[in-house]
Amino acid sequence: MYKALFLLIFLLNSKVFAIEFQGKFIQGHFIIGKTEPNSEIWIDKKQVKLTKDGFFVFGIGRDRKYDIVITSYKNGKKTEIVKKIQKRKYKIQRIDGLPEKKVTPPKEVYERIKKENKIISDAREIESDLSFFKNEFIYPLENAIVTGVYGSQRILNGKPKWPHYGIDFAAKEGTEIKAMLDGKATMVEKDLFYTGGTLIFDHGHGISTLYMHLQKIYVEKGQSVKQGDVIGTVGSTGRSTGAHLDVRLNWFGTRLDPMTVLKIR
Ligand SMILES: [Zn+2]
Repeated sequence: MYKALFLLIFLLNSKVFAIEFQGKFIQGHFIIGKTEPNSEIWIDKKQVKLTKDGFFVFGIGRDRKYDIVITSYKNGKKTEIVKKIQKRKYKIQRIDGLPEKKVTPPKEVYERIKKENKIISDAREIESDLSFFKNEFIYPLENAIVTGVYGSQRILNGKPKWPHYGIDFAAKEGTEIKAMLDGKATMVEKDLFYTGGTLIFDHGHGISTLYMHLQKIYVEKGQSVKQGDVIGTVGSTGRSTGAHLDVRLNWFGTRLDPMTVLKIR
């Protein structure tokens, strides 16, 4: 009898401390974790926020090759999970013989580009308590046709350019764009050098989305939006070769593949 009671107490105390994941450990992917409330979670060396019910979120960069370490602390007990990252193959396109001014931006806009990049990266560093990231995303356009994918890279005149981190959707100028998820507008810019009319929304815990090349913008900085709200229209502003919408998904500075939330989840 005593033995059985002792065993029961032992089992209760050593209950396996579980962390569940939703999403795959593949480059560019978005992963939601769930653990017991009131624990602490670290992703590599970064402590992340937990919702009241124990949810947290993180992402895996385009080129990450090394294992990811998820560490949790609860009542002084440490649990460590190490996950391998599955690699992806990205499309590489070489174009040679282009006029040089099409390859490198002119010197006089360097300062402007630097300033604008800072505005964008600052918005992406916001770590709020919003927990919209747990919800399902919707497509930003009706009848969306994907014309550009995450991760692809162009090599122009032998110079590797920044990989493409977004999803391009072909659409006519003026087509209404819907918010993919509930969120709060943290950056509203009408005319950035590369991205033209640009919006960034915060969805909580470092998850943000960005919409670029907009013709019209219907939200103001600080405004909260509901999923499906019309936030602007498709345009060709900034450095764009034609009307299209390019959307981005970030976990802080880590650029993720928007398709992983639009399709897989
Ligand atoms: Zn694009």
